[in-house]
Amino acid sequence: MMGFCTECSQQQDDDQKFCRFCGERLPGAMLMRQLREEHANIQAQKTGQVTQTQQANLATLQAIELARQQQGNEQGN
Ligand SMILES: [Zn+2]
Repeated sequence: MMGFCTECSQQQDDDQKFCRFCGERLPGAMLMRQLREEHANIQAQKTGQVTQTQQANLATLQAIELARQQQGNEQGN
């Protein structure tokens, strides 16, 4: 699998940490996978197709956000 440097657009291996052309830090395989997943999510939202996994992810995110807000309130008071 190949990726591209966000700075100079040269083709890179996914597992490379730095661009060998310009030295820009590359996202690495894990982040690349994350970005692709995010991209798929956005595409799914656009087309109105949301998988069960994506719905579960969304529910988790909402739960985290809710917990964060509750924590913030407690600290605020
Ligand atoms: Zn580069």
